[in-house]
Amino acid sequence: MKLVSIEAAVDFLQRDKVVAIPTETVYGLAANAFSETAVSRVFETKDRPSYNPLIVHIANYERLTDLVSFFPENAKILADKFWPGPLTLLLAKRDSVSDQITAGKPTVAIRMPSHPIAQDLLKKLDFPLVAPSANRFKHISPTKPSHVFDSLGAEVPIIDGGECKLGLESTIVGFDDQGRPVVYRQGTISLESLQEVLPETYLLHQSSSAEVSIVAPGMIKRHYAPNTPLKIVDSIEKHLEEFGSENKIGVIYPAHTKPHQLAAQTIALSRGGDLNEIAEKLYAAFHQLDKQNLDYLVIERFENIGLGRTLNDKITRASSED
Ligand code: AMP
Ligand code: MG
Repeated sequence: MKLVSIEAAVDFLQRDKVVAIPTETVYGLAANAFSETAVSRVFETKDRPSYNPLIVHIANYERLTDLVSFFPENAKILADKFWPGPLTLLLAKRDSVSDQITAGKPTVAIRMPSHPIAQDLLKKLDFPLVAPSANRFKHISPTKPSHVFDSLGAEVPIIDGGECKLGLESTIVGFDDQGRPVVYRQGTISLESLQEVLPETYLLHQSSSAEVSIVAPGMIKRHYAPNTPLKIVDSIEKHLEEFGSENKIGVIYPAHTKPHQLAAQTIALSRGGDLNEIAEKLYAAFHQLDKQNLDYLVIERFENIGLGRTLNDKITRASSED
């Protein structure tokens, strides 16, 4: 694993190279947003199709004027509340933002991360950074350096920031014709938290149509998926009784539970079922169980409210076959 200092990362980034960086959500594969060469390297390194746009990361509001032609009132209200933090806003782009970044769309996705290393790095650079999750296309987002290494290999330099505190992607919010906030991708900030600030906020209707996939590739059905198949079951207990003796099943429990004798491997995501802790640990559990040569993994659905709704969205995508 090629771990590098912030200073070395600055040097790499100034020379149009990519660097994996910690953020409060997941590790990002960073590159100079104003360099076509650097941005191309992000797509190549991730094997990411060019129709999948990137999020631009900024340290502070000064940068925003270089990137965005209009900052609507509702965007200001949400940014005031959630920036720096795990909120990405879709805003009308300036010409300086390349079509490569936005996949030809008129909007650019912007986020101001709160992670001290990401902040420090951005402040040391005189350009913003694109930083999609530092994993190969369609795979699980990395929440620690070893996940980046496993997915992208030894060539990619990584700044070690330990484990990501939040562990799920940012919430992506755009604005409709009436200026109402629309959640394009569910993430760490729940629909309810957004609605507390702006009650008119709504979820973009889930659809697997190609057009929507292009609008928000976070919505591609099979995303965030482990290599080992994941099944969502009504009752882990019943499933193990029925299938546990013929299959090597990895079990993911939300809270500490006595391992079932028919489970080949068991992971508890939290001690007592705290959703923030579950969110923090979910992807790490996928990464870990993926290495155990299991036939498949099982998990139960969460209560569909707040962060539970985001978690259900993530596990549904992770269990999808296409
Ligand atoms: P990643 O950082 O790998 O999770 O991917 C970035 C995500 O940002 C993509 O999955 C898209 O959903 C989203 N995104 C970036 N730019 C746009 C845009 N202009 N419109 C809609 N979604 C976008
Ligand atoms: Mg991603």
